[in-house]
Amino acid sequence: MTDTTLPAATFTSNSPATGRQLAEYPVAGPAQIAAAVNRARKASAGWAALPASRRREHLLRWKRQLAASFDTVASTVSAETGKTRGDAELEMILALEHLSWAARNAGRVLGRRRIRTGLLAVNQGATLVRRPLGVIGVIGPWNYPVFTPMGSIGYALAAGNGVVFKPSEYSPGSGVLLAELFDAAVPEYAGLLTTVTGAAGTGEALARSRVDKVAFTGSPGTARKVMAVCAESLTPFLAECGGKDAVIVAADADLDAAADAIVWGAMGNAGQTCVGVERVYAVREVHQALCTKIVERARELRPGPGPDAAYGPMTMPGQTAVVERHLDEALAAGARAVLGGVESVSEGYVEPVVLVDVPEHATAMTEETFGPTVAVNAVADLDEAISRANLSRYALGAAVFSRSRRTGSAVASRLRSGMVSVNSVLSFAIVPALPFGGSGDSGFGRIHGEDGLRAFTAPQSVTVQRFAPPVNLTSFTAPAAAKARVVSLVRQLHERR
Ligand code: NAD
Repeated sequence: MTDTTLPAATFTSNSPATGRQLAEYPVAGPAQIAAAVNRARKASAGWAALPASRRREHLLRWKRQLAASFDTVASTVSAETGKTRGDAELEMILALEHLSWAARNAGRVLGRRRIRTGLLAVNQGATLVRRPLGVIGVIGPWNYPVFTPMGSIGYALAAGNGVVFKPSEYSPGSGVLLAELFDAAVPEYAGLLTTVTGAAGTGEALARSRVDKVAFTGSPGTARKVMAVCAESLTPFLAECGGKDAVIVAADADLDAAADAIVWGAMGNAGQTCVGVERVYAVREVHQALCTKIVERARELRPGPGPDAAYGPMTMPGQTAVVERHLDEALAAGARAVLGGVESVSEGYVEPVVLVDVPEHATAMTEETFGPTVAVNAVADLDEAISRANLSRYALGAAVFSRSRRTGSAVASRLRSGMVSVNSVLSFAIVPALPFGGSGDSGFGRIHGEDGLRAFTAPQSVTVQRFAPPVNLTSFTAPAAAKARVVSLVRQLHERR
């Protein structure tokens, strides 16, 4: 008999730094995915029935296992994505913090709570509980192959679900390790988290597999395709997509701190960060000085494969062409390069590029560049900075620099973005209790924080009748006159209040 669980084909992962083959993985098809979903469903029945405190213990064991395997996981992340060891370690500590928070807070956030019943239901006791959905399909990207999916996987498991995870075809090994370490730490629930490897076809098969929700992280173009597949079976869908994050710099900003943060936010991880800094709007009085400080710092950065490199290669070969096109089009449209230029792009590596005076219609301002480049434009005032920042069809993260906390908060409250940091960049991602996500082409729904736990649950509302009501509104036997008195009383109350 043919074993339908045997994978039909394999694919290899390669080092973006050397091109060397790293490992071979099976391409999971519908049969393997169905088997993984079944296993996760079986394991999740017992998992969901556990008290939250027991799930917390199990997840903290997994966290300790991940921490103990820190070097192995960080090396795999670094080998598969090309990112520096430092970037991989940063990603690891963020993932550990998030898993810890999700494990420790799920019981408090999702547990049953009493609800006030109101006048009409004064005879009822009401409670609300958040119940797990079942099995969550997680589709992940390559740029943060542990931290990003952990925002879905850790929170979905903490909420009582099973998970089938499809990592990016560029970072399968990092994904496989996550599930292996889970099985090693929590053997009694082996199969609760399974990693299936493959490219688009595997992702599509997971979206078709009747999981109870798909949590997708990747580009908006792919999100649309996956959402269309989910629509066929009304599978709920969460989309964490790209960004075109803006930083606003006020006249009173600490320019050294702003330049430092902008350069790290734009060039760190070779600019391959969904909440990376891609656009800067500085008020005219400080624009020139800020540009000088940004260039001074960015000029010192050297990309490369070695341990001394500031950042690594572009992970996906195709992305280099996107960066080159954005630079080309910006310069043709009238932008000036104050550091680097099109010549900074070569053989998978991109040297830092700083552009100024970039027209707002240029692709460098409208599309996600995902490279170590940044556009720094001058604006007349903060109002103009805000309206330009809000022009983007993306709305993920943003930052504001001002010595005045009041100005920082006022600007933040007018920005169309899911997250804002004042006087730093990306700090919202470090706080596990803060929800993470955006709107527009950046997607919808939230991971992280209380919203991130609730995202993998459905509310169940329960009423328990404590005593028979004086007038039973849900019975055909209640006298019409009594019902009319209740209607009149409630109507009068609402007219007065
Ligand atoms: P991508 O859209 O190419 O792929 C994402 C995932 O979807 C991969 O696992 C891929 O195999 C899978 N996939 C591709 N086609 C599919 C299909 N038709 N059906 C099902 N699955 C399919 O994105 P990427 O290049 O891996 O990641 C980079 C993007 O992710 C950037 O846009 C980045 O900004 C975004 N990102 C967003 C966040 C966030 O939290 N908002 C975090 C990290 C990355």
